[in-house]
Amino acid sequence: MAEVYNWQLGRGMDYPYEERHPEKQFVAVFNINRCIACQTCSMACKSTWTFSKGQEYMWWNNVESKPYGGYPRNWDAKILELQDQANPEGQVWEKDPFTEEDVFGGKTIFEAAPSGEQVLGYLPEQKEWRTPNLYEDTSTKFKAKGKIGLADGGVSLPEHKAWFFYLQRICNHCTYPACVAACPRKAIYKRPEDGIVLIDQKRCRGYRKCMEACPYKKPMYNTQTRVSEKCVGCYPRIEGKDPASHGRPMEARCMGACVGQIRLQGLVDINKDGTWKEDPSNPLYYMIKEAGVALPLYPQFGTEPNVYYIPPRWVPRDYLRQMFGPGVDTAIENYMTPSRELLSVLQLFRRSQEIIFRYEIVKGEKVFDTKIHGKAFAMYNDTIIAYGKDDNEIFRTQVEEPIYVRTSERSNAI
Ligand code: SF4
Ligand code: SF4
Repeated sequence: MAEVYNWQLGRGMDYPYEERHPEKQFVAVFNINRCIACQTCSMACKSTWTFSKGQEYMWWNNVESKPYGGYPRNWDAKILELQDQANPEGQVWEKDPFTEEDVFGGKTIFEAAPSGEQVLGYLPEQKEWRTPNLYEDTSTKFKAKGKIGLADGGVSLPEHKAWFFYLQRICNHCTYPACVAACPRKAIYKRPEDGIVLIDQKRCRGYRKCMEACPYKKPMYNTQTRVSEKCVGCYPRIEGKDPASHGRPMEARCMGACVGQIRLQGLVDINKDGTWKEDPSNPLYYMIKEAGVALPLYPQFGTEPNVYYIPPRWVPRDYLRQMFGPGVDTAIENYMTPSRELLSVLQLFRRSQEIIFRYEIVKGEKVFDTKIHGKAFAMYNDTIIAYGKDDNEIFRTQVEEPIYVRTSERSNAI
């Protein structure tokens, strides 16, 4: 048992395993507002890693419609209910009067573990894995007037009357992984070079304690090999071993394939105590730590997940606060009226598959100014330059998309 600091909770917590931190950490930001649920990410992962016998039901990357969808069925409602029972006084976030930080006052899945167990969890039944995309595109109920049920008055932000959104899910390569803590064989480990969490297939005996413990339900049991498997963070690509990467670190397959351009993944530098090294020119560090626009999924579980989400702007805030913690209002406000720097950084998504280690902005002309929901906003045509591992320039792009007009002699060219 270690007493560790979980910055997402704003406090220390008990973690039933030894504390160990990598030099760098695999981190991603998913912008929910842009996802079109095309499932290209899911297919990119499946065709790379889970196309063999025994892996039929495995979707290491899945995209589910919230609030009703979930893979396995109701995974989050189930774990939230268990956590609620362990926190009869409610799962409360309080402001620290001195630091102004939000502090989680309830018990995490580690602190609420039943006696004899490392983690509070449950093992999904087989039938819960049968319907990966049940309730796709299903919105909450909406009582409309008239026989044909047309909406009266239309919809407007901040909250739509009927709503749903897509939630993209992979293993979070957590800082304090529940799967690692629960494995009686010590078969699961976090790589020191990039924080990717892997299951050693030779050590695993298929006890499924990881499936029971992971609150995100991302380890999966292979009935053919009789051992558990999970997302491997496409580690050969992170190592620059994909032939297409020319030896330079590349993002995972689900990221590179994303049609909606919602995903950006990279590596952040980690201090010995697990805190993030200050590095505001790393786009992930900037969005998460400086701009406060991307938030962890269910931080109250306590695993310190490393996939962060820009929350959907049209969804009731209470629902989002339960899912992403108390930073939701600030994140949405900062996304809707982005600062000059944030607007530039948002242009980095999916311009390249190479991992961006730092960026630079060259200031451009003002394009226009306006008000968005009563808040002043100015757009500048800044240029943002992305650099890779060896400080090589990967690409440069501008805030304003350039318009190319074909010359008249080529007007019919395809
Ligand atoms: S999401 Fe689950 S499987 Fe992945 S590292 Fe965290 S606890 Fe382990
Ligand atoms: S590929 Fe991108 S846009 Fe398509 S479902 Fe996956 S995350 Fe969403």
